[in-house]
Amino acid sequence: MNITAIHERTLPLASSMRNAVIDFSTMTVSVVAVVTDVIRDGRPVTGYGFNSNGRYAQGGIIRERFAPRLLGAAPGALADADGANLDPFKCLAVMMTNEKPGGHGERSVAAGTLDMAFWDIVAKIEDKPLWRLLADRYNGGAADPLVNTYAAGGYYHPGKGLEALQDELRGYLDLGFTSCKIKVGGAPMDEDLRRIEAAIDVLGDGSRLAVDANGGFDLATAIKFQQAIQPYGLKWYEEPVEPLDFEAHAELAASAVTPLATGENLFSCVDTRNFARHAGFDPQRDFLQVDPVLSYGLAEYLGIIEMLRGYGWSTRRLIPHGGHLFGMHIAAGLQLYGMESYPHVFDPYGKYARGMTLGDGKVDLPSLPGIGYEDVPGVDELMRALAG
Ligand SMILES: [Mg+2]
Repeated sequence: MNITAIHERTLPLASSMRNAVIDFSTMTVSVVAVVTDVIRDGRPVTGYGFNSNGRYAQGGIIRERFAPRLLGAAPGALADADGANLDPFKCLAVMMTNEKPGGHGERSVAAGTLDMAFWDIVAKIEDKPLWRLLADRYNGGAADPLVNTYAAGGYYHPGKGLEALQDELRGYLDLGFTSCKIKVGGAPMDEDLRRIEAAIDVLGDGSRLAVDANGGFDLATAIKFQQAIQPYGLKWYEEPVEPLDFEAHAELAASAVTPLATGENLFSCVDTRNFARHAGFDPQRDFLQVDPVLSYGLAEYLGIIEMLRGYGWSTRRLIPHGGHLFGMHIAAGLQLYGMESYPHVFDPYGKYARGMTLGDGKVDLPSLPGIGYEDVPGVDELMRALAG
Protein backbone atom coordinates (compact mmCIF):
# COMPACT_ATOMS: atom_id res chain seq x y z
CA MET A 1 0.00 0.00 0.00
CA ASN A 2 1.11 3.54 -0.70
CA ILE A 3 0.21 7.15 0.01
CA THR A 4 -0.96 8.74 -3.23
CA ALA A 5 -1.77 12.31 -2.16
CA ILE A 6 -1.45 14.64 0.82
CA HIS A 7 -3.68 17.70 1.04
CA GLU A 8 -3.21 20.50 3.57
CA ARG A 9 -5.27 23.62 4.16
CA THR A 10 -4.58 26.42 6.59
CA LEU A 11 -7.81 27.70 8.12
CA PRO A 12 -8.57 30.43 10.66
CA LEU A 13 -9.36 29.50 14.26
CA ALA A 14 -9.69 33.07 15.44
CA SER A 15 -11.38 34.07 18.71
CA SER A 16 -11.41 37.06 21.05
CA MET A 17 -10.42 34.92 24.03
CA ARG A 18 -7.03 34.98 25.74
CA ASN A 19 -5.10 33.12 28.42
CA ALA A 20 -2.27 34.49 30.59
CA VAL A 21 0.16 34.64 27.69
CA ILE A 22 -1.53 34.76 24.26
CA ASP A 23 -4.73 35.84 22.59
CA PHE A 24 -6.30 33.82 19.79
CA SER A 25 -7.16 36.68 17.43
CA THR A 26 -4.96 35.37 14.61
CA MET A 27 -4.91 31.64 15.46
CA THR A 28 -4.91 29.19 12.55
CA VAL A 29 -5.16 25.42 12.10
CA SER A 30 -3.77 22.98 9.53
CA VAL A 31 -6.25 20.37 8.32
CA VAL A 32 -4.86 17.44 6.33
CA ALA A 33 -6.17 14.57 4.24
CA VAL A 34 -3.82 11.68 3.43
CA VAL A 35 -5.05 9.53 0.52
CA THR A 36 -3.93 5.92 -0.03
CA ASP A 37 -4.21 3.41 -2.87
CA VAL A 38 -6.17 0.99 -0.67
CA ILE A 39 -9.76 0.84 -1.93
CA ARG A 40 -12.71 0.23 0.40
CA ASP A 41 -16.32 0.51 -0.74
CA GLY A 42 -15.08 1.76 -4.10
CA ARG A 43 -13.14 4.69 -2.62
CA PRO A 44 -9.52 5.17 -1.58
CA VAL A 45 -8.99 4.92 2.18
CA THR A 46 -8.24 8.46 3.37
CA GLY A 47 -7.06 9.59 6.78
CA TYR A 48 -7.82 12.98 8.31
CA GLY A 49 -5.93 15.07 10.81
CA PHE A 50 -5.46 18.57 12.21
CA ASN A 51 -2.82 20.19 14.36
CA SER A 52 -4.59 20.13 17.76
CA ASN A 53 -4.72 23.65 19.21
CA GLY A 54 -2.45 26.19 20.83
CA ARG A 55 0.05 26.25 17.97
CA TYR A 56 -0.41 27.79 14.55
CA ALA A 57 -0.97 25.96 11.24
CA GLN A 58 1.97 23.97 9.90
CA GLY A 59 1.36 24.16 6.15
CA GLY A 60 4.90 25.27 5.30
CA ILE A 61 6.71 22.29 6.82
CA ILE A 62 4.02 19.85 5.66
CA ARG A 63 4.06 21.06 2.06
CA GLU A 64 7.78 21.78 1.69
CA ARG A 65 9.38 18.92 3.62
CA PHE A 66 7.16 16.17 5.00
CA ALA A 67 4.69 15.61 2.14
CA PRO A 68 7.42 15.42 -0.56
CA ARG A 69 9.38 12.90 1.53
CA LEU A 70 6.33 10.70 2.11
CA LEU A 71 5.19 10.88 -1.51
CA GLY A 72 8.75 10.24 -2.70
CA ALA A 73 9.18 7.07 -0.61
CA ALA A 74 9.84 3.86 -2.57
CA PRO A 75 6.71 1.81 -3.36
CA GLY A 76 5.72 -0.14 -0.25
CA ALA A 77 8.30 1.62 1.94
CA LEU A 78 5.64 3.04 4.28
CA ALA A 79 3.74 -0.24 4.60
CA ASP A 80 3.82 -2.65 7.54
CA ALA A 81 5.51 -6.06 7.44
CA ASP A 82 2.85 -7.81 5.35
CA GLY A 83 2.36 -4.81 3.09
CA ALA A 84 -1.37 -4.49 3.79
CA ASN A 85 -1.47 -1.44 6.00
CA LEU A 86 0.40 1.77 6.71
CA ASP A 87 3.16 1.78 9.34
CA PRO A 88 3.06 5.13 11.20
CA PHE A 89 6.52 4.49 12.70
CA LYS A 90 8.04 4.15 9.22
CA CYS A 91 6.14 7.28 8.16
CA LEU A 92 7.69 9.22 11.06
CA ALA A 93 11.17 7.97 10.17
CA VAL A 94 10.69 9.05 6.54
CA MET A 95 9.38 12.49 7.57
CA MET A 96 12.46 12.95 9.77
CA THR A 97 14.93 12.15 6.98
CA ASN A 98 17.60 14.87 6.89
CA GLU A 99 16.24 16.51 10.05
CA LYS A 100 18.85 17.14 12.75
CA PRO A 101 18.13 15.97 16.33
CA GLY A 102 17.15 18.52 18.98
CA GLY A 103 15.79 22.00 18.37
CA HIS A 104 12.34 20.62 17.66
CA GLY A 105 10.66 23.94 16.97
CA GLU A 106 7.20 23.26 15.60
CA ARG A 107 8.16 20.54 13.11
CA SER A 108 6.88 18.15 15.81
CA VAL A 109 3.44 19.71 15.31
CA ALA A 110 3.62 19.24 11.53
CA ALA A 111 4.61 15.60 12.03
CA GLY A 112 1.85 15.04 14.59
CA THR A 113 -0.78 16.51 12.28
CA LEU A 114 0.05 13.96 9.59
CA ASP A 115 0.44 11.19 12.19
CA MET A 116 -3.20 11.69 13.21
CA ALA A 117 -4.21 10.96 9.62
CA PHE A 118 -1.90 7.89 9.49
CA TRP A 119 -3.60 6.28 12.49
CA ASP A 120 -7.01 7.09 11.03
CA ILE A 121 -5.92 5.14 7.94
CA VAL A 122 -4.50 2.21 9.93
CA ALA A 123 -7.71 1.77 11.93
CA LYS A 124 -9.92 2.16 8.83
CA ILE A 125 -7.97 -0.53 6.99
CA GLU A 126 -8.32 -2.83 10.02
CA ASP A 127 -12.00 -1.85 10.14
CA LYS A 128 -11.88 -0.91 13.83
CA PRO A 129 -12.39 2.27 15.80
CA LEU A 130 -8.94 3.57 16.71
CA TRP A 131 -9.40 2.98 20.46
CA ARG A 132 -10.01 -0.72 19.80
CA LEU A 133 -6.96 -0.97 17.52
CA LEU A 134 -4.75 0.68 20.17
CA ALA A 135 -6.08 -1.56 22.94
CA ASP A 136 -5.47 -4.69 20.84
CA ARG A 137 -2.00 -3.71 19.66
CA TYR A 138 -0.53 -1.97 22.68
CA ASN A 139 -2.64 -2.65 25.76
CA GLY A 140 -3.35 -6.38 25.86
CA GLY A 141 -6.86 -5.79 24.53
CA ALA A 142 -7.96 -3.76 27.56
CA ALA A 143 -9.75 -0.44 26.99
CA ASP A 144 -11.88 1.99 28.98
CA PRO A 145 -15.41 2.10 27.57
CA LEU A 146 -15.85 5.56 29.11
CA VAL A 147 -13.17 8.26 29.21
CA ASN A 148 -12.82 10.73 32.09
CA THR A 149 -13.06 14.23 30.74
CA TYR A 150 -13.41 17.77 31.95
CA ALA A 151 -14.39 21.07 30.37
CA ALA A 152 -11.35 23.23 29.62
CA GLY A 153 -12.63 26.80 29.45
CA GLY A 154 -12.67 29.80 31.72
CA TYR A 155 -10.75 31.96 29.26
CA TYR A 156 -10.50 35.72 29.60
CA HIS A 157 -12.75 37.64 27.23
CA PRO A 158 -13.14 41.42 27.04
CA GLY A 159 -15.81 42.47 29.57
CA LYS A 160 -16.30 38.94 30.97
CA GLY A 161 -17.03 39.15 34.69
CA LEU A 162 -17.63 36.63 37.46
CA GLU A 163 -21.26 36.07 36.52
CA ALA A 164 -20.37 35.26 32.94
CA LEU A 165 -17.71 32.85 34.16
CA GLN A 166 -20.25 31.14 36.41
CA ASP A 167 -22.78 30.96 33.57
CA GLU A 168 -20.14 29.34 31.38
CA LEU A 169 -19.38 26.70 34.03
CA ARG A 170 -23.09 26.02 34.68
CA GLY A 171 -23.39 25.40 30.95
CA TYR A 172 -20.66 22.75 31.20
CA LEU A 173 -22.41 21.05 34.12
CA ASP A 174 -25.62 21.03 32.07
CA LEU A 175 -23.75 19.23 29.27
CA GLY A 176 -22.71 16.46 31.68
CA PHE A 177 -19.28 17.57 32.87
CA THR A 178 -18.50 17.35 36.58
CA SER A 179 -15.15 19.16 36.60
CA CYS A 180 -13.76 22.16 34.78
CA LYS A 181 -10.59 24.16 34.24
CA ILE A 182 -10.22 27.91 34.13
CA LYS A 183 -7.37 30.20 33.11
CA VAL A 184 -5.40 32.12 35.72
CA GLY A 185 -2.46 34.50 35.52
CA GLY A 186 -4.12 36.88 33.08
CA ALA A 187 -5.53 39.12 35.83
CA PRO A 188 -4.24 40.44 39.17
CA MET A 189 -3.98 37.66 41.77
CA ASP A 190 -6.84 38.91 43.94
CA GLU A 191 -9.12 38.95 40.90
CA ASP A 192 -8.03 35.42 39.94
CA LEU A 193 -8.74 34.22 43.48
CA ARG A 194 -12.26 35.70 43.22
CA ARG A 195 -12.68 33.87 39.89
CA ILE A 196 -11.58 30.61 41.56
CA GLU A 197 -14.04 31.10 44.43
CA ALA A 198 -16.84 31.94 41.99
CA ALA A 199 -16.04 28.77 40.03
CA ILE A 200 -16.01 26.60 43.16
CA ASP A 201 -19.41 28.06 44.11
CA VAL A 202 -20.79 26.60 40.88
CA LEU A 203 -18.88 23.30 40.88
CA GLY A 204 -19.50 22.57 44.54
CA ASP A 205 -15.97 21.58 45.52
CA GLY A 206 -12.40 22.68 44.83
CA SER A 207 -11.50 19.15 43.75
CA ARG A 208 -13.69 19.72 40.68
CA LEU A 209 -11.68 22.72 39.50
CA ALA A 210 -8.25 22.90 37.85
CA VAL A 211 -6.45 26.16 37.09
CA ASP A 212 -4.08 26.86 34.19
CA ALA A 213 -1.51 29.68 34.14
CA ASN A 214 -0.17 28.79 30.68
CA GLY A 215 3.42 29.27 31.82
CA GLY A 216 2.77 32.93 32.53
CA PHE A 217 4.17 33.34 36.07
CA ASP A 218 7.76 33.95 37.09
CA LEU A 219 8.86 31.57 39.84
CA ALA A 220 8.30 33.99 42.73
CA THR A 221 4.74 34.74 41.58
CA ALA A 222 4.07 31.06 40.88
CA ILE A 223 5.08 30.17 44.44
CA LYS A 224 2.90 32.97 45.84
CA PHE A 225 -0.03 31.73 43.79
CA GLN A 226 0.64 28.13 44.80
CA GLN A 227 0.42 29.11 48.46
CA ALA A 228 -2.69 31.23 47.88
CA ILE A 229 -4.65 28.41 46.22
CA GLN A 230 -3.60 25.64 48.59
CA PRO A 231 -6.67 26.02 50.89
CA TYR A 232 -9.05 25.45 47.96
CA GLY A 233 -7.99 21.80 47.43
CA LEU A 234 -7.97 22.20 43.64
CA LYS A 235 -7.74 19.34 41.15
CA TRP A 236 -4.43 20.65 39.78
CA TYR A 237 -2.29 23.74 39.14
CA GLU A 238 -1.27 23.70 35.46
CA GLU A 239 1.74 25.25 33.72
CA PRO A 240 2.61 27.61 36.56
CA VAL A 241 5.93 28.65 34.98
CA GLU A 242 7.84 28.57 31.69
CA PRO A 243 7.33 24.98 30.49
CA LEU A 244 11.02 24.30 29.85
CA ASP A 245 12.35 25.71 33.14
CA PHE A 246 12.76 22.36 34.91
CA GLU A 247 14.52 23.80 37.96
CA ALA A 248 11.58 26.15 38.61
CA HIS A 249 9.20 23.18 38.39
CA ALA A 250 11.38 21.27 40.83
CA GLU A 251 11.19 24.13 43.30
CA LEU A 252 7.39 24.26 43.05
CA ALA A 253 7.13 20.47 43.24
CA ALA A 254 9.24 20.26 46.40
CA SER A 255 6.54 21.85 48.54
CA ALA A 256 3.43 21.22 46.43
CA VAL A 257 0.23 20.07 48.09
CA THR A 258 -2.08 20.83 45.16
CA PRO A 259 -1.14 18.45 42.31
CA LEU A 260 0.92 20.04 39.53
CA ALA A 261 0.34 19.49 35.82
CA THR A 262 2.24 20.37 32.67
CA GLY A 263 3.43 18.87 29.39
CA GLU A 264 1.50 20.47 26.53
CA ASN A 265 4.66 22.31 25.54
CA LEU A 266 6.99 19.31 25.78
CA PHE A 267 7.30 18.33 22.14
CA SER A 268 9.33 15.11 22.07
CA CYS A 269 10.28 11.99 24.00
CA VAL A 270 13.71 13.49 24.74
CA ASP A 271 12.20 16.68 26.19
CA THR A 272 9.77 14.65 28.28
CA ARG A 273 12.59 12.43 29.55
CA ASN A 274 14.53 15.49 30.63
CA PHE A 275 11.42 16.73 32.38
CA ALA A 276 10.96 13.38 34.17
CA ARG A 277 14.60 13.43 35.23
CA HIS A 278 14.93 17.01 36.39
CA ALA A 279 11.60 18.71 37.12
CA GLY A 280 10.87 16.99 40.43
CA PHE A 281 7.27 16.01 39.57
CA ASP A 282 5.75 13.27 41.71
CA PRO A 283 4.22 10.43 39.64
CA GLN A 284 1.86 9.67 42.52
CA ARG A 285 0.59 13.24 42.86
CA ASP A 286 1.08 15.12 39.59
CA PHE A 287 -0.09 14.89 35.97
CA LEU A 288 1.58 15.05 32.56
CA GLN A 289 -0.33 16.53 29.63
CA VAL A 290 1.88 15.87 26.61
CA ASP A 291 -0.24 16.31 23.46
CA PRO A 292 0.48 13.49 20.99
CA VAL A 293 -0.32 15.78 18.07
CA LEU A 294 2.05 18.56 19.13
CA SER A 295 4.88 16.12 19.86
CA TYR A 296 5.56 14.15 16.64
CA GLY A 297 2.39 12.10 16.87
CA LEU A 298 1.17 8.90 18.48
CA ALA A 299 4.18 7.01 17.06
CA GLU A 300 6.33 9.16 19.38
CA TYR A 301 3.78 9.22 22.21
CA LEU A 302 3.84 5.43 22.54
CA GLY A 303 7.59 5.74 23.16
CA ILE A 304 6.97 8.52 25.68
CA ILE A 305 4.63 6.24 27.63
CA GLU A 306 7.25 3.48 27.73
CA MET A 307 9.98 5.91 28.73
CA LEU A 308 7.82 7.38 31.51
CA ARG A 309 7.11 3.94 32.97
CA GLY A 310 10.83 3.75 33.73
CA TYR A 311 10.48 6.89 35.85
CA GLY A 312 7.52 5.52 37.78
CA TRP A 313 4.72 7.08 35.76
CA SER A 314 1.54 5.09 35.24
CA THR A 315 -0.63 5.83 32.20
CA ARG A 316 -3.28 6.84 34.75
CA ARG A 317 -1.35 10.08 35.43
CA LEU A 318 -1.39 11.10 31.74
CA ILE A 319 -4.02 13.45 30.32
CA PRO A 320 -3.30 14.54 26.75
CA HIS A 321 -3.74 18.21 25.94
CA GLY A 322 -5.82 19.23 22.95
CA GLY A 323 -9.44 18.21 23.46
CA HIS A 324 -9.45 16.32 20.16
CA LEU A 325 -11.27 13.12 19.34
CA PHE A 326 -7.93 11.51 18.48
CA GLY A 327 -6.84 11.96 22.11
CA MET A 328 -10.12 10.42 23.32
CA HIS A 329 -9.29 7.24 21.40
CA ILE A 330 -5.78 7.22 22.86
CA ALA A 331 -7.06 7.74 26.40
CA ALA A 332 -9.57 4.88 26.02
CA GLY A 333 -7.33 2.41 24.18
CA LEU A 334 -4.23 2.93 26.32
CA GLN A 335 -6.16 3.47 29.57
CA LEU A 336 -4.89 6.93 30.44
CA TYR A 337 -6.36 9.10 33.23
CA GLY A 338 -8.56 10.81 30.68
CA MET A 339 -8.69 13.55 28.08
CA GLU A 340 -9.69 17.18 28.17
CA SER A 341 -12.62 18.63 26.20
CA TYR A 342 -13.12 22.14 24.80
CA PRO A 343 -16.89 22.54 24.54
CA HIS A 344 -17.61 25.55 22.31
CA VAL A 345 -13.98 26.77 22.55
CA PHE A 346 -12.20 25.38 19.50
CA ASP A 347 -15.25 24.63 17.37
CA PRO A 348 -15.69 22.59 15.31
CA TYR A 349 -12.43 20.70 16.00
CA GLY A 350 -13.20 20.04 19.67
CA LYS A 351 -16.67 18.63 19.00
CA TYR A 352 -17.58 15.02 19.68
CA ALA A 353 -18.82 12.73 16.93
CA ARG A 354 -22.56 12.32 16.49
CA GLY A 355 -23.92 9.71 18.86
CA MET A 356 -21.22 10.11 21.51
CA THR A 357 -22.75 10.68 24.92
CA LEU A 358 -21.41 12.60 27.90
CA GLY A 359 -22.61 12.09 31.44
CA ASP A 360 -21.20 12.17 34.95
CA GLY A 361 -17.92 13.57 33.61
CA LYS A 362 -17.32 10.66 31.24
CA VAL A 363 -17.74 10.26 27.51
CA ASP A 364 -18.14 7.19 25.32
CA LEU A 365 -16.51 6.73 21.93
CA PRO A 366 -17.66 6.37 18.33
CA SER A 367 -17.90 2.94 16.74
CA LEU A 368 -16.98 4.04 13.20
CA PRO A 369 -13.71 2.60 11.89
CA GLY A 370 -10.86 5.08 12.32
CA ILE A 371 -11.11 8.22 14.42
CA GLY A 372 -14.55 9.22 13.21
CA TYR A 373 -14.08 12.77 11.95
CA GLU A 374 -16.56 11.91 9.19
CA ASP A 375 -19.17 12.05 11.94
CA VAL A 376 -18.13 15.28 13.67
CA PRO A 377 -20.50 18.14 12.77
CA GLY A 378 -18.64 20.89 10.97
CA VAL A 379 -15.46 18.85 10.55
CA ASP A 380 -17.06 16.22 8.31
CA GLU A 381 -17.75 18.44 5.30
CA LEU A 382 -14.52 20.33 5.68
CA MET A 383 -12.41 17.20 5.59
CA ARG A 384 -14.31 15.57 2.77
CA ALA A 385 -13.90 18.72 0.69
CA LEU A 386 -10.19 18.62 1.38
CA ALA A 387 -9.87 15.04 0.14
CA GLY A 388 -11.47 16.10 -3.14
MG1 LIG B 1 -3.02 24.20 29.41
